[in-house]
Amino acid sequence: MLQPPGMDLRVAVVRCEGYSQSGVDAAARRAIDLLGGIGSFVSSGERILLKPNLLQGLEPGRCVTTHPAVVAALARLLVEHGCRVLIGDSPGGGVIYSEANLRRAYARAGYLAVAEETGAALNYDTGSSVVSFPEGTVTKQFSIITPAVEADGIVVVSKAKTHMWTKMTGATKNLFGIVPGLEKPVFHSRFRDERSFGEMLVDLNECMKPRLQVVDAVIGMEGDGPQAGNPRKIAAILAGSNYAAVDTVLARLIGIEPLEIGYIVSAAERGLFDPADVRTVGDDPATLAVPDFRKPSTHTGARSGVVRRVSLSLLQRFGRVYAPRPGVITGACIGCRKCERICPVHAVTVTEGRASIDLARCIRCYCCHEMCTEHAIVLTRGPAGRFIAYFLG
Ligand code: SF4
Ligand code: SF4
Repeated sequence: MLQPPGMDLRVAVVRCEGYSQSGVDAAARRAIDLLGGIGSFVSSGERILLKPNLLQGLEPGRCVTTHPAVVAALARLLVEHGCRVLIGDSPGGGVIYSEANLRRAYARAGYLAVAEETGAALNYDTGSSVVSFPEGTVTKQFSIITPAVEADGIVVVSKAKTHMWTKMTGATKNLFGIVPGLEKPVFHSRFRDERSFGEMLVDLNECMKPRLQVVDAVIGMEGDGPQAGNPRKIAAILAGSNYAAVDTVLARLIGIEPLEIGYIVSAAERGLFDPADVRTVGDDPATLAVPDFRKPSTHTGARSGVVRRVSLSLLQRFGRVYAPRPGVITGACIGCRKCERICPVHAVTVTEGRASIDLARCIRCYCCHEMCTEHAIVLTRGPAGRFIAYFLG
């Protein structure tokens, strides 16, 4: 019998040492069996959108996208159960959501082979439509890609990564990919701080209610994710039906306090879950935790007491001074214009094949940094920002 999406706060944690297909198949199956089996989430005959993290479609070794072995494991389970599976995502806000770009992204991320091996189809429909959500707290409607609108259910298969702006991306943030490419900056422009952006992400998840969340935390990304960080082994597959519960477990695994993350706070404050009620099944998370997982350089530390209070009041007052500023390494820039397209406030201009940034306009959302595959955008703090960062620890 199908579970109502999101009600079960259990999160399956299963050790998975690498990306051999047989190992990933076994780990994914075990994780989902611990939650009652795939039949608890989907029914035979349903059209299921399998939503990976396809951010710009980079090679699996870069650990930016959900590894094809994990996408294949889920696709196989769903196909075996009699579902019609479509793999789809709108990869990144600075990329035009076109058939040609999807084809390139699938090829680079290794998903063409996934479709061939599993019988799942790849989405090439680049249409979208408006979905109303009157119950939304901050967003009453979303523009959503057609395969997500037309699916009977969504299964999210995300990648465990740090994130320069939202601190971490796993289950909850991954669903933002169903907003079509160049419409993403509109949301960044409307929701300019991490907390309000988190409210929007919770609205989106409540609007679309994915049935199942699976996280590829076999090798995640640490440091300046979600694109410019470094691969780091976690050796786990996570699964659950509640996106905030799954992200709570992931945050704890990588040494981030869950209630430092805006979207987890939003879900908790709305009573959609309580982090204290999240429990794990399967392997002991303590044996998989990576407490020294490198946090993004935008992450504030965890000093306590008076020093922290003073630092935070400085931060509230001088947040703009504290936040790292994007800058362009001119020699690395190839003039591809992805940063110019994604910037929600039009602070980036590309002239004569080189990007430049108007820092007076910049709202520090770091979308340009996320989209630059050439690592030509760096984030640095000025002297005052470094001083405050020192006190934050
Ligand atoms: S900074 Fe990066 S994203 Fe922007 S134009 Fe240059 S290479 Fe492209
Ligand atoms: S220039 Fe500033 S506002 Fe524009 S995308 Fe980059 S960080 Fe965001």
